Amino acid sequence: MKLVIENVGEYLKANGVKPSYQRIKIFEYLVKKRNHPTVDMIYRELVQKIPTLSKTTVYNTLNLFIEKKIAIIIIIEENETRYDADTSIHGHFKCRECQTVIDLDVDLKKMSIDSLDGHQVHEHHIYFKGICKNCKAA
Ligand SMILES: [Zn+2]
Ligand SMILES: [Zn+2]
Repeated sequence: MKLVIENVGEYLKANGVKPSYQRIKIFEYLVKKRNHPTVDMIYRELVQKIPTLSKTTVYNTLNLFIEKKIAIIIIIEENETRYDADTSIHGHFKCRECQTVIDLDVDLKKMSIDSLDGHQVHEHHIYFKGICKNCKAA
């Protein structure tokens, strides 16, 4: 799914999040960059324009987004939590050279997993690790 959001403020409001300036900026970061950032990545960039921003605010805001189901957590490495505003079912590929995490379109219907029959699935985590095209070429 390609996530298109015209007005971040309205989108937050529609999902029960009071759209403060900081919240809008944090959500915009997720939507525009699509880089599946960590708290640190968001903080380091946004604090340059919002000097009053704290890492705790970034962290709490992301948790609020998750609670309201407008963002998901991606854990590919045990010690690294990343965030994604695309909540549709899709997979991820992480490059171990440049650390980039890219989206993969996944059609679950094409993935037949017979042994799941009868079980109730609540979460999907589909990820691959390796070396991306760009790093391979370099
Ligand atoms: Zn790479
Ligand atoms: Zn993603």
